[in-house]
Amino acid sequence: MPHPYEKLFSPIQVGKVLLPNRAVMAPMATNLATPDGMVSDPLIEYYVERARNDVGMIIIECSCIDSPAGKNVQNEIAVDRDECIPGLKRLASSIQKAGAKAALQIHHAGSLAKSLITGKQPISCSAVPSRVTGETPLELSLPEIGDLVEKFAQAVRRARDAGMDGVDLHFSHGYLVTQFLSPLTNLRSDVYGGSMENRLRFALEIIRRSRERVGNDYLIMAKVTVDQFIPGGLTLKETGPMVQRMAEAGLDMIHATAGDPNSLQALPVPPMSVPRGCYVNLAEDLRKYTTIPIAAVGRINDPEVAEKILRDGRADVVDIGRGLLADAALLRKAREGRPEEMRRCIGCNQGCRWRDRTKYLAIRCAVNPEVGREKKVGALRANARRKVLIVGGGPGGMEAARVAALRGHDVTLCEKTGSLGGQLILAARPPGREEISNLTRYLTHELERLKVRVYLKREIDATAITEMAPDAVIVATGSIPVKLDGANSLPCAEEVLGGRMIPGRRVVIVGGGSVGSGTADYLSEKGHQVTLVLRRSDFGLKLEPSTKLVVQNRLREKGVTVVTKGRFLGYGGGHVRIEREGAEETIPADDVVLAVGYRPDNLLYQQIQAGGKVRAYAIGDCVEPRGIMEAVNEGAEAAWSI
Ligand code: SF4
Repeated sequence: MPHPYEKLFSPIQVGKVLLPNRAVMAPMATNLATPDGMVSDPLIEYYVERARNDVGMIIIECSCIDSPAGKNVQNEIAVDRDECIPGLKRLASSIQKAGAKAALQIHHAGSLAKSLITGKQPISCSAVPSRVTGETPLELSLPEIGDLVEKFAQAVRRARDAGMDGVDLHFSHGYLVTQFLSPLTNLRSDVYGGSMENRLRFALEIIRRSRERVGNDYLIMAKVTVDQFIPGGLTLKETGPMVQRMAEAGLDMIHATAGDPNSLQALPVPPMSVPRGCYVNLAEDLRKYTTIPIAAVGRINDPEVAEKILRDGRADVVDIGRGLLADAALLRKAREGRPEEMRRCIGCNQGCRWRDRTKYLAIRCAVNPEVGREKKVGALRANARRKVLIVGGGPGGMEAARVAALRGHDVTLCEKTGSLGGQLILAARPPGREEISNLTRYLTHELERLKVRVYLKREIDATAITEMAPDAVIVATGSIPVKLDGANSLPCAEEVLGGRMIPGRRVVIVGGGSVGSGTADYLSEKGHQVTLVLRRSDFGLKLEPSTKLVVQNRLREKGVTVVTKGRFLGYGGGHVRIEREGAEETIPADDVVLAVGYRPDNLLYQQIQAGGKVRAYAIGDCVEPRGIMEAVNEGAEAAWSI
């Protein structure tokens, strides 16, 4: 019987390099290099962990050809001077020894470089302000463009000298080369601007000069934005012929991506509500323009999806990014037939993309707490087997139980409700957030596999803890919805999402955070006429930007009315009363639903602390209501310290 992932695990020749299989790890900025761009041990360990688990080729994250001016993140890898080569060599050989091919992504951020990070005014082909950074770049002169072409080529030469199997030129995601390619950001009137031919010139010069530096046998690929999803921006109509010219100029493979940081329709790293493999059609379309291998990009986070793309002949190779963060052994498990053990990416972008509101500087993952600290915590056995009690079966408690059991402890988890998952259950209810339940499924399976004792409908108080006499308690009791003064009897979003309350046709939701906007999405999908009342001028302040963009567009399409700067006063007689700019207004409503935040449920932790008899750790929402990432990571961190 053929292997279910036969095509995925079949080799492919790309240029002069034979890839052992068709699964490529997509480049993702980790911030794990040193501040001056040198390769660090954690960076190597992060990649080795994936290389030794059946990835065919790793494309190492964006590496800057001109630091600091072209940096995208603080600790971006540098490839702009020969002193970077020894570190890159160590990185390449470590990946190769672990079994994968290694390629380096070659990058300049252009106008997306933030002066806060670089200390310099950004540069670009034209002085078009960036919507993302709010900064206006300096327009490059012709000699400066020539210098940059040479810097790209020298970076390619350094990658080759470091022993990398190849390079991936970053011609996408709104960075410098895309700025030249796109008519939206390239307003030049010289030979680098205007016609498609002229806008393409910079990219072609980079490819040709790189070929001059490294010869025809070296693997040179490019990642290209096929469609920016911005009115007037790049689309296949131009990028198809552009890719054809790039291939003729000497590329060996194209990674076909889409979206743009400036787009109001599609960002480059699509969130969970966007279908898996969302840009595959664009990869397929490129086949009409070139015969070099095409890699599909975009939420290919599952081997099933990857195999289908390859079998259907829609692409030659698949780039898996976040899927390999969520589970470094995703491909190994696929090859060995262990699908139920796969920890799937949920597309939340909380740890890999958007850490602004967290305590984490380097890359993290909401479902895999080992990301960015692989060696430090991997397979860490405890010195002594201890009796560990976990109170609370949400994501943090379950992860704590999983890690504690892996470390060899005797673990018991008690959950007061009848099911595991905690907030994950309701978080998965709004449309497009269903993949969140993959995490509940995975953790439930792991607790079973690791023989954690799980007691449901078991409420734990200080007396019970004394009786159970654990060596350590991890308190993961979560949070409680906040009620408003004088509105205690009004239902909260949890009751609606949990199906315990079915509101009438016209619903007012008070609160525009992740839960409020998700509930608005959920109810409007079911045909309710929804009004969202916010205290602020915008909703979803804590929503990751690409998720927010999708939710924003969905609510608009479904006719949800968003009332900003409104303070809830009360509900009665079929009307919600609010105050806006000093005046009282009413909104007709059959029901009102509160989504005004959470407060920590930390009573048990306080009691244990007061008793002083047992070592206790508080994790997740019972410390401070936040997201899945904090709960899971803190759960693991507590278990690692026992
Ligand atoms: Fe996927 Fe979220 Fe982890 Fe990023 S943080 S890899 S989106 S699960």
